[in-house]
Amino acid sequence: MPRIVVLRVGHRVPRDSRVTTHVALVGRAFGADEIWVDKKDGGLERRVKDVVERFGGSFRIRTGVGWRRSMREWKGRVVHLTMYGEPLDEALAKIPSEDLLIIVGAQKVPGEVFEMADFNVAVGNQPHSEVAALALFLDRLLGGEGLRREFSGSITVVPSARGKVVEEDAT
Ligand code: SAM
Repeated sequence: MPRIVVLRVGHRVPRDSRVTTHVALVGRAFGADEIWVDKKDGGLERRVKDVVERFGGSFRIRTGVGWRRSMREWKGRVVHLTMYGEPLDEALAKIPSEDLLIIVGAQKVPGEVFEMADFNVAVGNQPHSEVAALALFLDRLLGGEGLRREFSGSITVVPSARGKVVEEDAT
């Protein structure tokens, strides 16, 4: 199974902390293995690790990771999600089944990222959100498999048409 890492570029503490938390949680829930964030943010690390501890899985977070070096040293393909890119369906047909580094921006992304990426991919050509772009990209890439994975945490939400059904492992 190819490894999927999300790289968040331009993260500002504390301004982007909430949205970057959502980027991380969407990455985890939709099939990514890790998130790397370019600025050190201890609070963000704690929040994401806390979700992983309670809800399970092996999702990892690293912050204070340089984006240029990460892109340069990445062994698989690099996908940059941007409204200026090529249409999602056309790009998906070309992206090989290899390890993927998926870049999402916070503030304006440096032009170099566009040059260094193997694919600049647009989830529609309108401005919207890194959270939505990442969710749609992962879901289309993995054909929905990301959402069907088992996480085996100490908290398990049991799907229910009505109300909340939650199982908690007391150990
Ligand atoms: N204002 C910034 C700029 O001018 O580049 C971008 C802000 S936007 C909310 C943050 C990120 O959302 C972008 O870097 C991109 O990764 C993602 N994004 C927003 N709209 C997108 C779209 N239509 N397709 C793909 N990614 C998108």
